[in-house]
Amino acid sequence: MINKQDKKLFDLINKELTRQQDGLEMIASENYVSENVLRVMGSILTNKYSEGYPGKRYYGGNKYIDEIENLAKNYAKKLFGVTHINVQPYSGSPANQAVYFALCKPGDKIMGMNLLYGGHLTHGWKVNFSGKHYESIQYTTDKNGFLDYDSIENLVKKEKPKLIFVGTTAYSRIIDFERLAKIAHDSNAFLVADIAHIAGLVVAGIHPSPVGYTDVITTTTHKTLRGPRGAMIMCNGEQLNPTRKIDSVIGWRESKQNIPTLIDRAVFPGLQGGPHNHTTAGIAQALFEADTDEFKKYAKQIVKNAQKLSQELSNNGLKIITGGTDNHLILIDVTTFNITGSQAEKSLELAGITVNKNAIPFDTRSPFDPSGIRIGTPALTTRGMKELEMTQIAQLIVKALKNHNDEKILKNIKSEVKKICKKFPIYKKVKY
Ligand SMILES: *Cc1c(COP(=O)(O)O)cnc(C)c1O
Repeated sequence: MINKQDKKLFDLINKELTRQQDGLEMIASENYVSENVLRVMGSILTNKYSEGYPGKRYYGGNKYIDEIENLAKNYAKKLFGVTHINVQPYSGSPANQAVYFALCKPGDKIMGMNLLYGGHLTHGWKVNFSGKHYESIQYTTDKNGFLDYDSIENLVKKEKPKLIFVGTTAYSRIIDFERLAKIAHDSNAFLVADIAHIAGLVVAGIHPSPVGYTDVITTTTHKTLRGPRGAMIMCNGEQLNPTRKIDSVIGWRESKQNIPTLIDRAVFPGLQGGPHNHTTAGIAQALFEADTDEFKKYAKQIVKNAQKLSQELSNNGLKIITGGTDNHLILIDVTTFNITGSQAEKSLELAGITVNKNAIPFDTRSPFDPSGIRIGTPALTTRGMKELEMTQIAQLIVKALKNHNDEKILKNIKSEVKKICKKFPIYKKVKY
């Protein structure tokens, strides 16, 4: 075996490690996985091919892989309270693609939340496959940035979509899955909850679960759930016709009874080949960790931190969309400080604080340089930071935004940031 490290590559990984350690990671969709998830992700499981599902593989040698995949599935079933789960999607976007592939034909009418109002690309955005291969109807928020259930109901009645996605990337409020389920099912539409961002809050009981309301649930595993990059598709229901030939042309009622089978067939062989077994194992480890009181406390603290941060930023004159937050993120209109989202993102990066620019509802600026930024607390909370640090960090954010042209001040903030980070170390033993 070649046992020679590419020095250039390993130097870069170590630089990235230092960046992750010394900066404030405030991108709402990011987190730090545990050292055990890291170990599992770097394990020999990456060597194995295992197309198919446990007990039904197209390759030999899958005795232990089967057990690992079943372990991940059983943890997820227990944690989310579902009867069927697929842990093979390579990531959140392919998981959503599999749902369309399972339940729709090309050209069918689908509905999802507009990206610029907090939806996801895969919910029918025009440049995404979901907007190109299906007839996409998009809903938005009301003028204050809240989901507008009455207008969604009217749109569903008028347009009669076959499938509706609900799930968000930049929405700070509770989603009413029960109400949406009634709207969808009154119109014989499938309802899919995409809980990519909030999965960790859902398993901790801090955000209401869509289980029992929506036909399908998709989630990533690497956001608040704090696992490896990956995804899962969940549903309730039996696999009624595991051997019968069925596909998505069989009509709404029979499709509805066969969702687990349709989903599994869509993931493999419909869209993917061999599953990433090291990721499956990483998901198992992350779910094992999520099924603890410690994780529940962690998830509660994420929200407390976001609420504290929101309060402090608002006290300092920043405009918080919807006026606050129920979850792990806040969306901020920075134009009241006479800067744009891009300028805010850049100056905060120079100050050691990583966030992303984001459109705000009814944004008058272009998506490439929108009016807002999105910030989240999952990663900081993993480091152990609490309300006290949120107050300090809010001051630093405000100072950086107010002095976005002053490189010297931004540099000083960066050293303040580093001091805070040193008090909350991550990956003490990791080095490449
Ligand atoms: C992150 C996210 C996805 C996509 O996940 P990827 O792993 O980036 O493909 C899908 N839907 C929502 C709501 C998300 O937040």
